Amino acid sequence: MEALEGIILDISDRKEMEYDLRYNYEHDTWTGLYNRRYLLDLLRRDINRLMREKRALVDINLSTVQSLTLTYGFQYSQELIKNVAHALRFHCSENRILFRVQENQFVFYIKAYENRDELQKFCSGLADTLGSILTVERIGGGIGVLEIDDNNKSDIEQLLKNLLIASETAINDLDRMIGVRFFDREMETQVTREEMIKHELARVAADKEGNGLFLQYQPILDLRTNRIYGFEALARLKVDNLGLIPPLEFIPIAEKTKLIIPVGERIIHRAFSFQRKLMQRGYNDIIVSVNISPIQLFREDFAEFLCGCMRQAGVNPQNVILEITESVFASNYENINVIVEKLKYCGVRIALDDFGTGYSSLAQSRDINANYLKIDKSFVDELLPLKEDSITGDIISMAHKMNHCVVAEGIEEEKQRQYLLENGCDLIQGYLISRPLDKNLAFEFLEKHNQGP
Ligand code: C2E
Ligand code: CA
Ligand code: CA
Repeated sequence: MEALEGIILDISDRKEMEYDLRYNYEHDTWTGLYNRRYLLDLLRRDINRLMREKRALVDINLSTVQSLTLTYGFQYSQELIKNVAHALRFHCSENRILFRVQENQFVFYIKAYENRDELQKFCSGLADTLGSILTVERIGGGIGVLEIDDNNKSDIEQLLKNLLIASETAINDLDRMIGVRFFDREMETQVTREEMIKHELARVAADKEGNGLFLQYQPILDLRTNRIYGFEALARLKVDNLGLIPPLEFIPIAEKTKLIIPVGERIIHRAFSFQRKLMQRGYNDIIVSVNISPIQLFREDFAEFLCGCMRQAGVNPQNVILEITESVFASNYENINVIVEKLKYCGVRIALDDFGTGYSSLAQSRDINANYLKIDKSFVDELLPLKEDSITGDIISMAHKMNHCVVAEGIEEEKQRQYLLENGCDLIQGYLISRPLDKNLAFEFLEKHNQGP
């Protein structure tokens, strides 16, 4: 009898152990939800089944929680994740299974749904639930949806990658705290294109010649003397199978991947070599204005690098302007002023680019030690049709009181030029004077316009 009892106890102990093992294998210990491993098992199992019902994955991407971890610590943010997990459980059912697949990411595996409309409604419900928890934390999130079909069902890694692409795209939806995006072909094309551009930028950075990357130069006109004052260097990227890629597309990718550091160095070298050639042609005081990304600016050795480049190219720092976009100053202008002062000490001048598009006000611009203020095209556009009460004139006179030299950008019509001249603007730039030009055309333009140095 005793022996039999022992065997029974033994078996139930084993059963309990097996149960524990299995539970830990399939579950996330922090939230008690199913884990990524179990999701993969289910997806693999379902590949080979003949599925008549529709299936989809819904990704809840809370990578935004990372910022809370940085501020309040890991424990705080993980407690929040636990609360989210608890709230999401109320959206579960037999056909809606919830997983925690990564630290800050949940997935619903949805089966037997009717149509996209049903998914859309489900996601709106999720967004409401998430909103009620995350709004007080002042963070958002993204919900990505991917419908599984016969074409995509067998590559599970790809499925999860595309799902993540959808939720990452949803996070970037600036109109909503919690964006919702369905994965589609267009998104895939966009991602492939971005991958190709990244690849190309890496190649440009590694290539000795930097082939594919080139600069165009847009003339800047001195309104009072009607002579060319200088050129703004604008970067272009030409890729074999994609054609010409605008900087508004490739610069943000270069910034995201930090490739802007080597690519930006190339741009600076080229711009200085252009400046040097101007000097060789006898133009000793034509400036070249180079756009600098915040990532370059915040590099500790940036000023040293710049001085080295100028020395090496034989460029007079007086002939160099660095354009820094206004939004950078809005974030922390005291810190930036330290960098600006260091750069000015090297002899270059600083322009506050895209003024009027960001958050800084004129009052703030007084605290920023920039030499030039570049008024954004959107202000200049307001001059058409010409309004007597436009504030552009007031901006110019106030900027002058604060010792900024004023450049107006995007001038396309004579009427705008006239207004700016009457209102004391110093420099203008825009298609009315010239589009950005290739190096040799820029030399020709200068020769014709200024009729010699
Ligand atoms: P941005 O610095 O504001 O440059 C002015 C943009 O306006 C240029 O576009 C220029 O071609 C365009 N533009 C000039 N005049 C007119 C006009 O009369 N009408 C219209 N509609 N547009 C005009 P682009 O070359 O496409 O450059 C776009 C942005 O890309 C630049 O804006 C700048 O923020 C960035 N970028 C360009 N090159 C570089 C670079 O070398 N480094 C960095 N970090 N950013 C760059
Ligand atoms: Ca600029
Ligand atoms: Ca600008």
